[in-house]
Amino acid sequence: MIGLTSFLKPKKPKQTVIFIDIAGRQIEILLIRNKQAKRLTLRQNLSGGNFKLSMPIRGTIAQAEDFCGQHTGWIADKSVNMQDMIMFEHDQHIPLRGGQVKLIFLDKLRGQTQKIENELHVTGGTDYAPRRLTTWLKAEAKADILIAIEKYQPLLDVKHSKLTIRDTKSRWGSCSSSKALSFSWRLVLAPPDVLDYVVAHELAHILEMNHSATFWAHVDKVCPHMKDSRNWLKTKGGQLHQIRAK
Ligand SMILES: [Zn+2]
Repeated sequence: MIGLTSFLKPKKPKQTVIFIDIAGRQIEILLIRNKQAKRLTLRQNLSGGNFKLSMPIRGTIAQAEDFCGQHTGWIADKSVNMQDMIMFEHDQHIPLRGGQVKLIFLDKLRGQTQKIENELHVTGGTDYAPRRLTTWLKAEAKADILIAIEKYQPLLDVKHSKLTIRDTKSRWGSCSSSKALSFSWRLVLAPPDVLDYVVAHELAHILEMNHSATFWAHVDKVCPHMKDSRNWLKTKGGQLHQIRAK
């Protein structure tokens, strides 16, 4: 039976790793051969920072190395971001509601996460504090988002059905046709105006499921700082993805 089950398992796509030398640093690039790929495409995972090169099934390692060789400028540029990753560590500074807090990991297991002036005290020591901090940030994000929902729902005369907090990589928020809202917990790291804007934006989708002029007029009416907040997300939003628990 074991043999049969493993025989029936779908094959994983073939993965190979190559290394590209960028100013003496070895940058790892994961090669992914897949049937759909018509050409070579190099991507960087926004949150993890790692590079992936997708290529046609018959693509060779030499072609992959050649392609990366032609794009060393781009790789060098992007790999700087990778080094700028902010990890949840004792003494590290992280953004919170647009300000900065210093993480203090306490070497005791019990106790609540507490913000004391510009410090964030997290229990659990090096092993557990990062996870506890993530849980705390998600709860804080949810609380802030609920306050913003309460503020904007009467202004727009809408009512949502469900609220989910996620770690979405590509979107700050979303609104389904059943009025279910979903937001990234990372919004709690951004200035409060930005979180407010994203909530107003998603709630306005209950009125207009598109990005038409009518939709933007709804957002603009209730959120006078819309332009600044959109601009903030465009220029600084990516930084919020450089913050990682591990
Ligand atoms: Zn939208």
